This record gives sequence, structure tokens and C-alpha cells, in this order.
Amino acid sequence: MTGAAVRSGDGTGSGVGTGSGAAARSVVGAGGGDGTGGGTGSVVGDRQGRLDRVRARMGELGVDALLLSHGADLPWLTGYRAMPLERLTLLVLPCDGEAVLLVPALEAPRVPSAPSLFTLRPWAESEDPVALAAALLASTDGATYAVSDRAWAQSLLALQAALPGARWAAASTVTSPLRAVKDAGEVAALQAAAHAADRVAALLQAGEIPLAGRTELQVSEEIGAGLLAAGHRRVNFAIVGSGPNGASPHHDAGERVIGEGDTVVCDFGGEYALHDDVGYCSDITRTVAIGEPGAEVRECYAVLLAAQQAAVAAVRPGVTAEEVDAVARRTITEAGLGEYFIHRTGHGIGIEEHEDPYLVAGNATPLAVGHAFSIEPGIYLRGRFGMRLEDIVVVGDDGAVPLNTVDHEMAVLG
Ligand code: ZN
Ligand code: ZN
Ligand code: ZN
Repeated sequence: MTGAAVRSGDGTGSGVGTGSGAAARSVVGAGGGDGTGGGTGSVVGDRQGRLDRVRARMGELGVDALLLSHGADLPWLTGYRAMPLERLTLLVLPCDGEAVLLVPALEAPRVPSAPSLFTLRPWAESEDPVALAAALLASTDGATYAVSDRAWAQSLLALQAALPGARWAAASTVTSPLRAVKDAGEVAALQAAAHAADRVAALLQAGEIPLAGRTELQVSEEIGAGLLAAGHRRVNFAIVGSGPNGASPHHDAGERVIGEGDTVVCDFGGEYALHDDVGYCSDITRTVAIGEPGAEVRECYAVLLAAQQAAVAAVRPGVTAEEVDAVARRTITEAGLGEYFIHRTGHGIGIEEHEDPYLVAGNATPLAVGHAFSIEPGIYLRGRFGMRLEDIVVVGDDGAVPLNTVDHEMAVLG
């Protein structure tokens, strides 16, 4: 997906690329692989490294404790993805001291055991979990606590009331630049997800998922089924935008019947779990044509392909995120189509579909080995047609390592 809103990057830069680069490097560039790799130590071992990096950054930033509720930080560190219940789930992670995971007692059986990472403290329905959390934090006056960006406001307000005198920050100030740099196990999961999405894209391009004469919704459902059949745990989205609908980047697949002369933007992805661990996301876009496209569509697609390839080629450690966006944009603008490229060039990807780093003007974060993101320029002529081309890449020592490798040409189907 492109993401509906343009979000500026975290802009911190510092801390990115320290620590886990070596782990990512060992997998990036190891070749296509079959998606079953990533055998570099245990998953808990990977998480211990993440925890160490988080604590080091908390120290640098003066954060006394991280308070993690819903969102991707919690599964990234613990292997546990909390359901978005109203009941409080909270990892209390002091900069110094033992981490304690408070979970509703009925959820406790779902928590993978990892005693070296955290102590599990289930709370009963009659207990007050906010009071339990406050009691775990020794001194509150003047302390700084960083709370999950995705925590309920209800949880944050209760914590603030229970911990007067504390200062509050977003957990992403600590975790986001660290999470953006994938370690070896994460790159393996993203690669497996991308391979699975590629298989569905190949079916589309071969005409084995029929398009002509069917509604966008029917095609979207078959793409979703294909993602599951290819091993995804769940489908996140399956955009099918045909003809003029393709000019709306996040078009909801609907009742329009796909026909001769249409270009069809298919953008889909899901969550793929390697070794039954936390799921990582796939996200790919291919545009296909029904019947021989006209000269204008051909010319636009040639520009799109050139822009996407130039942006991939521009990726290097140390190049900023906004420079990659600028390369794609320049190619399209020089062809006179700049006003039709209406979103950023890409977004980071991991446990979340959209996370740092964002490839967008204003994000001067230097790319680092292990950064994983989409490169997905698009051209949208309102009321007429649209097209987008999207791959996920990981930054390696020598440049981008594409995780999606399925054909980049616009397939022409009967
Ligand atoms: Zn999107
Ligand atoms: Zn996408
Ligand atoms: Zn995307």
C-alpha cells in the first residue's frame, strides 16, 4: 500500500544503523533463497539483542521505563501480539531492572514463555492493572515514561492519573529507529512473505487469476485466497482498481466489471509467520492490461518502470530516504507526468504494513543496512486510468536487495 496520508519521517536519524546491521548483513545478499532460511540463532536470542539495543537507547534518551501496550513494539520485543481488548496489556520495561508483562489472566495462555526476556504477571478481573503497573515503577517524580503510540487513550490517561509528576513520551522515539533496522530473522520473514506474494502476482500475470468479465471484488477475493494458499496467516488488503478506478490509489474493490481496454492496479499483501513466530508483512503491486494497451498507457508505463528501477538503483547505505523519493519523482516529472504521482515513494515494512522509514520529501534519515521498505511510484490520471509498481527491498552493503522479483513489465492479458 502507499499509505493514505503522507507522514514525515521520524527525523531522528541518530541510532539508526547501530547495533543490528551486522546481523542483517549476513542474510541480505545471501541470494534469493527459498524463504526458509534465517537460521541465525534462536528467536529469543534475536529478541535479547533487541532488548539490549532498546535499553541502550533508553539510556541515551533519558527514558526511565517503556510502557508497551498494543502495537508492533510488544511482539517485536516479546513475541506476543496483544489483542486490542479494552483490558490492559502492558509490558513495563525499566531501563534498569526486570521487565514485567501484565496481561489479563484470560489472555495469559497465549503468551509465549520467554523468562529470560520478561516475567509474566497475569492480572485477575478483580485487580486494578494500572495500580499494578504504577507499583512496578519505583519513583515517579520527574521520571520519563515512553508509552506505545498505539495504546488506547483510556490506558494512557489512567497511567497519567496514577503516576503524577512523570513526563511522557511516545515509545516510537525509542523503538522506531531500532525496529526500522531488521535483524537476520526479520529479513528472513520478510523474504518468505515476499516470495509468497510473488507467487500470487505470477498467477495474475499468467492469467491464471482471470480478470476480464469479472468484478473487482471477485478478483480481490481470489487474490486474498491466493495469499492464504501461498502461506500467509492473514490477508491485510487486496486492492483491485480497474479502468478509471485505478486512478484512486487505495480504491476499494467493488462491483465494476473488468473489461477490454482496462489497466488494472492490483496491490495486495498479508501477514506471513515464519516458524510460527510473529507475522511480517508482504506488500506488492503489479499493473496488468486487458487487451493491447494504447500508446499513452504504454508510454506512461515505460516512465513508471524507469522511475521504479531508478529509485531501486539509488538505494545505498547513507543515501537519505528523501533522496530515493526524489529520484523516482524526477523521472516521472521529467516525462511531464509529475502532477500525477500523488503520494510518497515508499514506506518501511515489518510487523506493521507501514512503519519507518518513509521515503518522502522531508525525511533526511540516512538509509542503513537492514532498512526494509517499499518502492512504489504510481501515475494516476483522474477519471481515466492508473498504474503503480511496487516491490519491497532491503538495504544491503552495496545497495537495494529486492525481495520481490516477479516480472516488472505490464502483463497484457486477453
Ligand atoms: Zn498503499
Ligand atoms: Zn502496496
Ligand atoms: Zn506499499
